[in-house]
Amino acid sequence: MEGKVPIPHVLIFPFSFQGHMNSMLKLAELLCPAHFYITFLYSDHNHKRLLRFTDAEARFRRWPKFHFETITDGLPADDPRSVERIFEMFDASESIIRALFRDLVISLSRPQQEIPPLSCIIADGIIPFAIDVADEFKIPIISFRTVSACSFWAYFCIPKLIAAGELPFQGDMDVLIKGVPGMEGFLRRRDLPSFCRAAEFNGPVFQSLLRSTLDTTRASGFILNSFEDLEGPILSEIRSHLPNLNCTTWLDSRPSNSVVYVSFGSVALVGRETLLEFWYGLVRSGTHFLWVVRPDSITGGEIDPEIPGELLEATKERGCIVGWSPQEEVLAHPAVGGFLTHSGWNSTLESIFAGVPMICWPCLADQQTNSRFVCEVWRVGVDMKDTCDRGTVERMVRDVMKRRKEELMGSVQKLAKLARISIGEGGSSRSNLDRLIQDIRSMTPSCPP
Ligand code: UDP
Repeated sequence: MEGKVPIPHVLIFPFSFQGHMNSMLKLAELLCPAHFYITFLYSDHNHKRLLRFTDAEARFRRWPKFHFETITDGLPADDPRSVERIFEMFDASESIIRALFRDLVISLSRPQQEIPPLSCIIADGIIPFAIDVADEFKIPIISFRTVSACSFWAYFCIPKLIAAGELPFQGDMDVLIKGVPGMEGFLRRRDLPSFCRAAEFNGPVFQSLLRSTLDTTRASGFILNSFEDLEGPILSEIRSHLPNLNCTTWLDSRPSNSVVYVSFGSVALVGRETLLEFWYGLVRSGTHFLWVVRPDSITGGEIDPEIPGELLEATKERGCIVGWSPQEEVLAHPAVGGFLTHSGWNSTLESIFAGVPMICWPCLADQQTNSRFVCEVWRVGVDMKDTCDRGTVERMVRDVMKRRKEELMGSVQKLAKLARISIGEGGSSRSNLDRLIQDIRSMTPSCPP
C-alpha cells in the first residue's frame, strides 16, 4: 500500500443486463483518475462479451488499481438471456448470487498485502440483496439506478398510487395519473412503467423491483445517470422525497447553530399523538429542524395522513424529515446547534464529542439516568422527562437554541475539549485502551508484550 494514507477501495456491482453494466463501467472509468482501488464485479457472460466486442480491457490496463472480477448470473451458458427470462435472472440473483456476493465482500474486506480493505460499495439499485449485505458488514453503500430519473420516480411513487386507488387500473389507458409529483397533467396510465399494467402486484419481479426501489432510502448515497438540464424538476422531487440521502446538503444551506437535530435512536417507538406533539412544538419554536422519523418507529402505523396544513407548511419552510441520518456527521455539522435526543448513551456521547447541547426525552433503561446527568450534573442540556406536550417541546427547544444558548454551548464545548484530550496521546481513555491491549496480549500464550 502507498505510504500510510488509506486509499479507498470501491466495489462496483451492476446487475447482469448489458445496459446496466455499460453505464456503471463508465462510472468506474470516471473514478479511475482519482486513483481508487476499484473492483468491478460483473457476470461471466458480460465479461466474455466485453472482451470480444470492445476495447475495454485495453482501456482499463492503464489503471493498475482497477480489477475486473466475475460472478455467475445464474443462467446456463446457452441461455438467450432475453427479456422473457427476466424472472429467472431475478430468481438466480436471490438464490445463487447473494451468497457469492457476500463471500466476495468478506474476502475483499480483509486487508491484503497490496489491496486496501473494501471501503465502499456502489451497487445497481435493482440488486435486491446488496444493501442487506453492505449493512451486515457495515460497509457504506451507494445505490446506482441506471434508469431515467423520471421512470425511477414513477416506480418510487407506486405505493402511493396503490394507496390512492390509482393502481391497479382497468379500462381507459388515457386516464391521467395524479399521484406522481411533478408529472401531474401529462402522465397517463399507459406511461407508467410497464409492470404497472398487471392486474395484481404479487409477481416476484414486480415485488423485487419495488422493494429495491423503496430500499434506496437505506443507502448512504444515490446516483442517477442523467443531468440537471434534462431532468432538473424531477431530480428536485426525488431530492425532496429522499432527503436522508441529502440531509447534510440541506444543512449546508442553514446558518451556523440554527438547526435542532431530532432523533430518538435506532429502536425507540413513538406513538402518533406524541409525534404530533413533537411536531407542533418544533414548528412553534420557530427553529429549523432536521428530524429522523424511522419508518418503523411510529406505533400504530404511519404518520396520520391528515397532517395539519400548518405543520406541512412550516416543515417545507424550515424542516427536513428523514428516515435515517449519518448522525455523527450531522452532529459535527456547523449548522447544528441542539440535539433533541432520547438520551441513548451513544447519542449522548456523540453529542458531547461534537459539542452540541441536548434536549433530553428519555424513553427507557439507562436513558432516564443519562438525561439527569446531562441536565443536572454536566449541565449540557435540559430534561423533559415524562412530558411531551407541544408547549414543553417549544419551550425547551427555545431554551437550548436561544435563551440558554451561550451557557449550554459553553459547558458542552468544554466537555467536548476534555473528550478530545482523553483520547489523545497521554489522555486517560487512550491509556486505558493501551492497558486493555496489554491485558489481551497477556491473556494470549506466547504473545510478545
Ligand atoms: N443513529 C444514526 N442515525 C440515525 C439514528 C441513530 O446513525 O438516524 C446511530 C447513532 O449515531 C447512535 C446509534 O444509532 O450511534 C443509536 O445508539 P444509542 O445508544 O444512542 O440509542 P439506541 O438506538 O441504542 O436506543
